Amino acid sequence: MNNESLLIIDYTNDFVATNGALSCGKPGQKLEPYIINLADSVKKNSFIYLPTDIHEKNDTFHPESKLFPIHNQKDTWGREFYGDLNSWYKKNNSDSIKIIDKTRYSSFAGTNLDILLQERKIDTLHLVGVCSDICILHTAVDAYNLGYKLIIHKEGIATFTKNGQEWSLEHFKNSLGATIV
Ligand code: ZN
Repeated sequence: MNNESLLIIDYTNDFVATNGALSCGKPGQKLEPYIINLADSVKKNSFIYLPTDIHEKNDTFHPESKLFPIHNQKDTWGREFYGDLNSWYKKNNSDSIKIIDKTRYSSFAGTNLDILLQERKIDTLHLVGVCSDICILHTAVDAYNLGYKLIIHKEGIATFTKNGQEWSLEHFKNSLGATIV
């Protein structure tokens, strides 16, 4: 195992599928082969975590309830991984390839991700998934503050607007010191 980990963030039907509840649509769907190829190429030597939003119906205390329609509800189709990632995960799910439930934009907010990564001496994170300017962004900012090195895969992330995609790539590079590949 090396000291790098791949994070596949929020790549679910609700965020990606055409009829998902909060979908970024085509730009998100296009990432599917890139994400699966990347995951296949590193799965023998790296820990792969899949930080994935989880919500309860009618959660009036959750701040996102006022901002977005219900999405990634527990035990629904919307929270299943999009496309072939769903069967890929079922096949590869193990101690080193694991979903991480998260309830906020950042993969670190309220999760044990940082502890898992520290235990495994991980210092570099590869980020793919959606959305570039929401959950990828918030995860990248927290990772930066925690001292992780960041590698952002530009063909592996997407969001709702072209402007959002461009802005976030600039921010990752210029403000978080990320390597863009
Ligand atoms: Zn959410």
